[in-house]
Amino acid sequence: MSVLRSYLSGSWQEGGGEGAPLRDAVTGEEVARISTEGLDRSAALEYGRRVGGPALRELTFHQRAALLKALASHLREHREELYALSARTGATLGDSRFDVDGGFGTLFAFSSKGRREMPNDTVYVDGAVEPLGKGGTFVAQHICTPLHGVAVQINAFNFPVWGPLEKLAPAFLAGMPSLVKPAEQTAYLTARLVELIVESGILPEGSVQLLTGEAGDLLDHVTEQDVVAFTGSADTAARLRVHPAVVRHAVRFNAEADSLNVSILGPDAAPGTPEFDLYVKQLVTEMTVKAGQKCTAIRRALVPADRMEDVAEAVRARLAKVTVGNPANPDVRMGALATLEQREEVRRSLKGLLDAGTILFGDPAHVDVVDADAERGAFLSPILLRADDPARAEPHEIEAFGPVSTLIPYEGAEQAVELAARGRGSLAGSVVSADPGFVRTVVVGAAPWHGRLLVLNGTDAKESTGHGSPLPMLVHGGPGRAGGGEEMGGVRGVLHHMQRTAVQADPAMLTAITGRWVPGAGRTVTTDHPFRKHLEDLRVGDTVVAGPRRVTLEDVEHFAEFTGDTFYAHMDEEAAAANPFFDGRVAHGYLVLSFAAGLFVDPDPGPVLANYGLENLRFLTPVYPGDEMTATLTAKQLIPREGADHGEVRWDVDVTNQKGESVAKYDLLTLVAKRA
Ligand code: NDP
Repeated sequence: MSVLRSYLSGSWQEGGGEGAPLRDAVTGEEVARISTEGLDRSAALEYGRRVGGPALRELTFHQRAALLKALASHLREHREELYALSARTGATLGDSRFDVDGGFGTLFAFSSKGRREMPNDTVYVDGAVEPLGKGGTFVAQHICTPLHGVAVQINAFNFPVWGPLEKLAPAFLAGMPSLVKPAEQTAYLTARLVELIVESGILPEGSVQLLTGEAGDLLDHVTEQDVVAFTGSADTAARLRVHPAVVRHAVRFNAEADSLNVSILGPDAAPGTPEFDLYVKQLVTEMTVKAGQKCTAIRRALVPADRMEDVAEAVRARLAKVTVGNPANPDVRMGALATLEQREEVRRSLKGLLDAGTILFGDPAHVDVVDADAERGAFLSPILLRADDPARAEPHEIEAFGPVSTLIPYEGAEQAVELAARGRGSLAGSVVSADPGFVRTVVVGAAPWHGRLLVLNGTDAKESTGHGSPLPMLVHGGPGRAGGGEEMGGVRGVLHHMQRTAVQADPAMLTAITGRWVPGAGRTVTTDHPFRKHLEDLRVGDTVVAGPRRVTLEDVEHFAEFTGDTFYAHMDEEAAAANPFFDGRVAHGYLVLSFAAGLFVDPDPGPVLANYGLENLRFLTPVYPGDEMTATLTAKQLIPREGADHGEVRWDVDVTNQKGESVAKYDLLTLVAKRA
């Protein structure tokens, strides 16, 4: 059996010696061997910083996003092969889809976020310009730029595909290369994934490396510019967090660790309600998907004390229908745990849980399986426990990382909140109820201890993705025992790999640095109207000043009749004057906007394709009949879309009156054609 290869410093390398065997979770056969003897981890980190980082930083966010999408499409063509390897980890086809397709979905989601929420540039502008001086010559802007190190990822065994892709996507989009270190038990699946990535040639060389085997001295070599993202047990997280190099260099360390997640049944959810059925179904799903080896799985099922019997009976009935066995058999609903050692670990944890509870379903020592040998494969029955004393510590502290959950009674929303918090920090929780009062108390009370909370009921059940599904746009982390991190969701996760810097400068300098026109920077009034310019010919700062136009009482009345907006402030002199903000009738804000457009547009067919909205609109000074309006339109930001024949242009619009006061300010968003 060959030793799994690592991809380090630009080449595939095999660790020395015979290596340790990795076994098929279902049959116990050897799948591969693993060894990291003699591999140079320090050189690999240096290679990522020297080769991968610069190659990524040359690309804009949109170009990186396009590569993530291309990669996801490529990997999708190989999913059958990945499913087949995934089955060897004990996963059913449904489990594999969760891991494999979930991973691809994460790449697609980050690609889409990158194109929609980030600029087609290498600098990310964070937040608004902050004025620092009264005269407007000294302002500040926060910008984010990628760290120059390597995003080191240390993963758990249970998601060998989704785990690395969940971390790779935000790091890559930020412009940071990754070094993937899978957990040993299922490293053969991650190794094949990385082989597919490298063989595709889609990502720049050096942007992804793979270390199959133990981390060894890897963390000794991390520096200030590296990031470490860990997924695994809280114990390992606690050790790695205080690794001397991590501490000395203040390395960003994000942990997603184990978590005793709760699901709370609302008191309104009596048997026969949709919520009762949803609760029971969800609990059984969470116990059996990936054989309960999901960091977000429900470990503690909080149930109103007077509903314990009903819930116990309904869950037992459902669990009795779960067929355990070889995932290759289509009737099998639950496969094996990842390894025999993992099964022993779960049995040990069960012993602890049984000090405070009793078994309602399942036998830790025996399970009937189909098409497999129950002892050679890491099979375990789903186990439902009951702990009648909610004050006991065990169910709130012991995580059996397998198909195990405990029913715990509670009385009232306050106690539910208190018990939820006894997990000391969780990734995901859920409350199943249609009672808004109960839900609000529980969500607000439990939120400080949770990364994510699902409110499930008859209204959202059909579309709900379920208690524990990872959603790339939402944070995936949690306080305390869950790791203390919350960075992987959406652009938030991307920014975790970037340094935020406050740049204090004059407006023209900020414009030069960020590529966005900042009020107070120079404007260029060109002979050609900016609406006559294609995207490539426009420059940030290109301006048209149009007006003045006098606003008359007839205009206001005409607009009121024409649109039907006869609000008193425009139509009733006396009532308008009584309004503390006005001295008499005022023009409609929408009239001001319409007249502004009438002033600055160039009407002939040309490269401007569409107006797709306004942002940051504020009416600052009332416009009275007789006032004269001038509109100043300035190109603020140009966003060419990769692979499209047009891009987006954001314009700064400042509408002023005859005294030079701003009456309205906003950003106008348009689509503008590129040259043919
Ligand atoms: P471990 O903490 O044992 O291992 C996790 C990873 O850490 C593995 O890659 C392991 O490598 C590595 N590791 C262990 N020791 C060191 C070290 N000294 N230096 C560097 N790396 C090290 O967790 P498990 O693999 O047993 O995973 C199960 C646990 O993970 C459960 O408790 C579960 O709750 C949690 N988990 C959390 C998730 C989350 O998103 N929050 C997701 C999935 C699981 P090696 O394999 O080489 O030892």
